Amino acid sequence: MRKAIITVAPTGEGATKRDNPALPTTPSEIADSVYESWQAGAAIAHLHMRDADDKPTMATDRFVETVARVRERCDIVINLTTAGDIHAGDDIRLAHLQAIRPEMASFDAGSMNWAYQEVFVNSPAFLARLAKTVRDLDIKPEIEIFDTGMIDNARHYIKTTPLRQPVHFQFVLGCPGGMPATIENLIYLTRQIPEGSTWSAFGIGRHHIPIMAAALLLGGDVRVGFEDNIYYAKGQLATSNAQLVERAARLAREFGREVATPGDVRADFGLRRA
Ligand code: ZN
Repeated sequence: MRKAIITVAPTGEGATKRDNPALPTTPSEIADSVYESWQAGAAIAHLHMRDADDKPTMATDRFVETVARVRERCDIVINLTTAGDIHAGDDIRLAHLQAIRPEMASFDAGSMNWAYQEVFVNSPAFLARLAKTVRDLDIKPEIEIFDTGMIDNARHYIKTTPLRQPVHFQFVLGCPGGMPATIENLIYLTRQIPEGSTWSAFGIGRHHIPIMAAALLLGGDVRVGFEDNIYYAKGQLATSNAQLVERAARLAREFGREVATPGDVRADFGLRRA
């Protein structure tokens, strides 16, 4: 089986320091957390930003500062969110890609009702712009799938933009309003993507462990971190993102998978070095 790529998603937009005091939110805290996660075996960092009040922001200067701090410390592959603030307009969701030209960026392949409260908007117009931006800047999209129909949207942009193939999918399971986090659903999704695609998966919250174990056994990649889950076990808060990465790396090895380095990811994905 191919080496297992571990992505760390250290911050996200949902959790607060009140939920878990170890959540990194400032550029220097995020860079420290990414560095520790890289030491523990993470090859990709999926980054979100917070403003001075720890609220989600897509402000380009926060991304610029944080990415510079991470790059000073380690060679982890940088994957920037394009959906770090549910209220942000299309322009600001793309501005940091132009400024930084990261090696990877998230591509949420459709809209959904988010946690029964808000609409997570990824309009056809936005997705067409995002697809063109990542193609023109040679940024590898990580196509996030929250529900089956989003794979059809992804196929549309792969064909029409076109996006360079094979593409990499990230299956997000167990989001309220999205596809439930069952192993049956994970297996189903892996059979719907274009042949030759690579994929990763994670379950939200308590679904984290079963989906991680299943993904590793099925030959996929995994994502861990406070964006998806702030607990190490039931009722026990994780002490750091690195603690979650360490367990993922340990499980991968127990299941006979070597853990990919950033260099492996660059070769496997054919990334342009930023
Ligand atoms: Zn994210």
